[in-house]
Amino acid sequence: MMSTHPQLPTPAHTQAESMLSRQFGKETVNYFSSSPLNRLSFLRGDHPFLSAALKHPSTRFVILKELAPLTKSPAELYHAKYEEVQKLVPANIYDKSEEDVIKEHDSRKTSPHLIFLGLDESRKQDGFAWKIYTGTPYFALDATARGSEEQQSNAKEILGALESKGLSFLQARVAMSFSADEAAIYAQARALTDWNTRNTFCGTCGNRTISVNSGTKRACPPTDLARVADGKSAEKPACNTRTTISNLSFPRTDPTIIVAVVSTDGKRILLGRSKRFPPNWYSTLAGFIEPAESVEDAVRREVWEEAGVTLSRVVIHSSQPWPYPANLMIGAIAQVSDPAHETINLEHDPELEDAKWFEVSEVEEALRVGTSPLGENAV
Ligand SMILES: [Zn+2]
Repeated sequence: MMSTHPQLPTPAHTQAESMLSRQFGKETVNYFSSSPLNRLSFLRGDHPFLSAALKHPSTRFVILKELAPLTKSPAELYHAKYEEVQKLVPANIYDKSEEDVIKEHDSRKTSPHLIFLGLDESRKQDGFAWKIYTGTPYFALDATARGSEEQQSNAKEILGALESKGLSFLQARVAMSFSADEAAIYAQARALTDWNTRNTFCGTCGNRTISVNSGTKRACPPTDLARVADGKSAEKPACNTRTTISNLSFPRTDPTIIVAVVSTDGKRILLGRSKRFPPNWYSTLAGFIEPAESVEDAVRREVWEEAGVTLSRVVIHSSQPWPYPANLMIGAIAQVSDPAHETINLEHDPELEDAKWFEVSEVEEALRVGTSPLGENAV
């Protein structure tokens, strides 16, 4: 069986010499991280900027359907031009200010999730220029046929035209076949589209929310013109999300730890297998960080709960955005300081079916021969 070796990012900063790189070694960067896009988060509410960026000839759209990305091949995203998505993204979409969009909210009207991802500043030639920034603007568009009948028919028309060009939506549980740059762009597009899709209703009052800040926040508007059609006042009942500064819903990132546990003598590594794993499949231990818990505390708690092993020092190794759906994987290395603390006990939390200490040489050999991703059979 083939092992999965995604192309890792190589941002320039990893090659730079500094006091910190000499002290701690080079920074490890992981797949889905190190996007080539400058997100320009401070321009997300600037509608004149977004309006001009949307229609610039260099602008590209990453299109998703049910979160599957539109591709030319399994290794290459398709970058659509504005003309190809215009049916779903009217040219006047950013003509009104965000304030007016909220004021004129009408829950009968729906629009697809559209997210400004950032500017690829490595492509300045014929790029879009705004103030001191020049590059290729990237947007993500959810072309899933949903919402009003009009939106659905527009989506189907666009999808039909794109698929007739031989393009297809990549159906993979985890997409690892893109180049490092494209993987990071896709990760951002997927995570934000998924979050928008799950948050179309207010978690406090249950009414429809609307997308603001070019797809990176959602607001619960105080009025709804649909109510006027029913003979009511446009004013909606009070909602706590509008009374304080926290009047918006922000995208989630769920921090998760994954840890290589090293024995006291430094010669063995602790691996475990969940009941849902395929036969012979062992992995490093992982779990969610809980509220009011440091990364180091979460590592110690998870390893004790799942394997009964007590850890001492925990060192953070590197981190990785994991857009399935909104995790930040924080990789750590941790050590047991006393051989008595190495005893495995699976009886606290019955999550693991087995946990074992493996010789480092055995793990190295397994990594050399090949590893398999979660959900696939062991090599
Ligand atoms: Zn609300």
